[in-house]
Amino acid sequence: MELNESVRSLPGVGEKTAELLQKVEISTVKDLLYYLPRAYKDFSHCKKIRDVSFGETAFFKVKILSQPQVRRPRYKLEITSFQVSDGTGIAIVDIFNQVYIKNNIVPGNIIYIYGKLEQKFGKVRITSPELYFKKPQESFLPIYPLTAGLTQNMLRKFLREALHTAEFTEVYSDVFLRKNKLFGLKEALREVHFPETAERAEKARLRIIFDELLLFNRMLELLGEEKRLQNRIRIEGSFLEEFSRYLSFELTGAQKRVMREIENDLTGEQVMNRLVQGDVGSGKTVIAFFAMYCMYQNGYQSILMAPTEILARQHYETALKLFPEEKIVCLTGALTAKKKSELREKVADGTLKIIIGTHALLYGDISFENLGLIITDEQHRFGVKQRAALSGGRQEVHTLIMSATPIPRTLSLVLFGHTDISVVDELPPGRKEIKTYLIHGSKYNDMIGFIANELNQGRQAYIVCPLIEDSGGMEAKSAKQMFDELKSCYPGKQMALIHGKLKNAEKQKIMEDFSSGSLQILVSTTVIEVGINVPNATVMAVMNAERFGLAQLHQLRGRVGRGKHQSYCFLVSDNQNAYERLRVLVSSNDGFKIAEKDMQIRGTGDLLGTRQHGAGTLKVANLITDMGLLIRTREVLDQLKKSGGPEYGAITAAAKEELKKKLIEIALN
Ligand code: ADP
Ligand code: MG
Repeated sequence: MELNESVRSLPGVGEKTAELLQKVEISTVKDLLYYLPRAYKDFSHCKKIRDVSFGETAFFKVKILSQPQVRRPRYKLEITSFQVSDGTGIAIVDIFNQVYIKNNIVPGNIIYIYGKLEQKFGKVRITSPELYFKKPQESFLPIYPLTAGLTQNMLRKFLREALHTAEFTEVYSDVFLRKNKLFGLKEALREVHFPETAERAEKARLRIIFDELLLFNRMLELLGEEKRLQNRIRIEGSFLEEFSRYLSFELTGAQKRVMREIENDLTGEQVMNRLVQGDVGSGKTVIAFFAMYCMYQNGYQSILMAPTEILARQHYETALKLFPEEKIVCLTGALTAKKKSELREKVADGTLKIIIGTHALLYGDISFENLGLIITDEQHRFGVKQRAALSGGRQEVHTLIMSATPIPRTLSLVLFGHTDISVVDELPPGRKEIKTYLIHGSKYNDMIGFIANELNQGRQAYIVCPLIEDSGGMEAKSAKQMFDELKSCYPGKQMALIHGKLKNAEKQKIMEDFSSGSLQILVSTTVIEVGINVPNATVMAVMNAERFGLAQLHQLRGRVGRGKHQSYCFLVSDNQNAYERLRVLVSSNDGFKIAEKDMQIRGTGDLLGTRQHGAGTLKVANLITDMGLLIRTREVLDQLKKSGGPEYGAITAAAKEELKKKLIEIALN
């Protein structure tokens, strides 16, 4: 039987059953074989009653001590109970509604039971266990995730059948398998479902993860290869010195290095595909503008996309210092339709060269005279969808992605192995490390006093709340409530409330006022999360900090510490359970470390794909816990490529197939 055949070809699988299996995304024999158990029932050795704690499920070998008693406490409820012992303890076994079992319960006989040991009604009990009158043949029985109507026994039966009849094609040679200490495919699949020992189950799973990660690496490679196009927008000249003259500060060594890398790309043989990683405040914006400047000097148009209108606006203000006003445009949703179409025309005929806007800009129908560069700022997720859209129809355009805390370094090396990465690993000089404090609500008034002091010295403050307004049942302070409270705390200070529900023009006005210093306090939701740059702001207070992710808090904190004054961040939380997590921020200012911790806590999700329910790229492997194997398989892939054996071709074919599926997924999105 071929692996791609429908499960219908297995004996016992009719239309109804096939529909049930479909619910857990099994349609082919291959899907079934890769439907892995979430755990096993361990029959390999019996546990002693004395050694098992209450609530634990185990396998016991016991002697029946008493005649079974049947009780009928309620209509349609019959309980058969009897006492058992294994020499270390006595337990009462309760069986529901199977009175016929009574005849098999003979005092003095040995039976095997599998169930949960509990303490109930003052006695040690095992309720509704599985009873075996002979020792089960298998040492481990698989336990699968189920759906209504599907049972463990059905899946076990189908899997035994499939393992028996399926034809497996092994991609690796025996030498390769031995060298990498891997099971053959057939053995791996058999052992992952019906293992002889726990070790063998583990080894079987390893082979499956190995395959998955090897394929994943090849997919990434293919994605990377696709992008490596010839550079037809090759620019000429060297602009770093000229550009520096426009700046009011000296560039850091890291900034200069990254700028040279970009210049090399733009003047090089291949189209640029570069990710610039640098912690918040490391000065990535100026790097983006340098790339645009290079294009501008060669007559090309550039796009800079920001995640929010506020940020787009801020970039626009920065651009005004570097480019002639009539060449720059800020395209945002706030514009009238008439204005928008007018500006689009000027983009199409090439009058406008520096095009700044929100990500939505990317999806709108917009044409260019000679687009040369697309920059995406503060991108946190790199869905295939976005990457495809980025390059869609514009394959030949240079791309630059700016990111503060995307993913841990080791991981990004793998995920973006074929995107070039520049790291801005140096902060502008004179920055003082932000002092971060985790405080309990009882210290709230001290914090209010502290902030008053900062305000009186001419500094500004951000106060962030998780909610806009009070919503019944949620125990968190809303931004509105906070705003009212602070008004009475700080009479005479100018403050504003900003949140996502405000009109764009209102938001913009508030940001401008805060930026110019006419507002001292900004109470907000997370709309200020990314990129906002007001160097005079020195306090960031986050209420109900437990409600935010670590990476998000780090982003928020990055709004302060941007100028020459000492800055402070207060994480306010009464939730002791969150303290361990929040302390990571108190002890570290390193965005990469924080991102890594955050991901350990929250999982990686599906970094390559646009995750739809359960349809991730990786089904078994976990990018964090299997990181070592991820890197090892990458090396193995390189070796396979060099050795020129048939494996590489087979993996490539499989990876292409997978990518095609992904692309269909994207197209359907
Ligand atoms: P991010 O990397 O978070 O995007 P920004 O580009 O917004 O950081 O820069 C943060 C602040 O640092 C801005 O006010 C910017 O003008 C300033 N800045 C950037 N580079 C330097 C530098 N080399 N020296 C001094 N200040 C700098
Ligand atoms: Mg930025």
